[in-house]
Amino acid sequence: MSNTYLVEPDVGFIKEVTKLGGQDLKKCFQCATCSVACPISPDTKPFPRKEMLATSWGLKDRLIGNGDIWLCHNCGDCSTLCPRGAKPADVLSAVRSYAVSEYAIPKALGKAVNKPGLLPILLAIPAILFLVVGTLSNMVGLDWLSFAPQGAEIWQHDYINNLLVDTIMVPTFFAALAVFALGLKRFMADMHANALLEGKTTKEKIDPAGFVQALIKIIPTIFKHQKFSECGENKERATAHMMVLFGFIGLFIVTNCFFIAEWVLHIEGPYNQINPVKWIGNLGGIALIIGGGLMVAHRMSKKDQINSYKDWYLLGLVMGLGITGLLTELLRLGELHGAMAVTYWLHLILIWALFAYTPFSKLAHLVYRTVAMAYQEYSGRS
Ligand code: SF4
Ligand code: SF4
Repeated sequence: MSNTYLVEPDVGFIKEVTKLGGQDLKKCFQCATCSVACPISPDTKPFPRKEMLATSWGLKDRLIGNGDIWLCHNCGDCSTLCPRGAKPADVLSAVRSYAVSEYAIPKALGKAVNKPGLLPILLAIPAILFLVVGTLSNMVGLDWLSFAPQGAEIWQHDYINNLLVDTIMVPTFFAALAVFALGLKRFMADMHANALLEGKTTKEKIDPAGFVQALIKIIPTIFKHQKFSECGENKERATAHMMVLFGFIGLFIVTNCFFIAEWVLHIEGPYNQINPVKWIGNLGGIALIIGGGLMVAHRMSKKDQINSYKDWYLLGLVMGLGITGLLTELLRLGELHGAMAVTYWLHLILIWALFAYTPFSKLAHLVYRTVAMAYQEYSGRS
């Protein structure tokens, strides 16, 4: 097989990466210090020096379909040691952001999610959606929305019925899964095409069984954050990152448990405070707040690191979800019903934003990185 590669520079790609946080890219003079510093650089490939060169040449196709960019966990060791201040960690982060926007469709939504000026409109969509669908349900006698519920023990469901919540959330969740599935299909095809081009594999197609085996194999590495512990510069990020990851996993489990409790077992809420599932939910919320807070503190302390809107969007979402979730419960326990209903509505807006916009946001790295790690395991990258 021929390894001939036609260089087709994409100037638009260079400009976009520069805007996304890679503004120091051109300072690189290819000394390779970063490749020596990088804990994930293989012996046979000068990572990320090669990626710096490819970015400055505008080799978009070689980069966005390159699983290696996702193996980087932004530890910053390379940026600290770079003698030119080219910030390779930030350049790779910008390339990953570009890759997410490229694979997620519709692209217009991807662009909107990453424009700070459009954030109020993006949040207004779910805010209005709940009010409109709730009002329509009232008009046809379903009464999913109430502004002054009556009863002995009032909880958020009495204001915003769980049927209204699920009617809106479930299709949004599955739509986001579909966007991810389409993006990942293209991403995997590109990764494999690049691997073929570089002679890393000879198989024409990815073997699904082998890939699933590789996926299972890398899960402990992700849970234990083993790659983070190889960092020299930003080791402490592992704790915050782990808290946020396990916070989300805990809340996902809790949401599914309560979904089954309500619609399969027909157990009505509010659920008892000593219910263990509830405790997992509380711990998940606390983990999001503390983990998110640690991440914010870390970013503020790193004056030389570039903080883009994507970073703050994600941190705001993590903190917002944790705070509104816990506050809703505290306000319910304190019987401050009106404040509880408003806080719950805000919480639902953020959950909807989490589902709908994740395939376009920085949080998509959870999915792309996992798939890239599995592919690298599958293809035997050292
Ligand atoms: S990014 Fe910095 S350390 Fe890496 S090759 Fe370029 S100049 Fe050298
Ligand atoms: S940020 Fe860390 S993992 Fe990423 S390229 Fe630099 S040294 Fe390697």
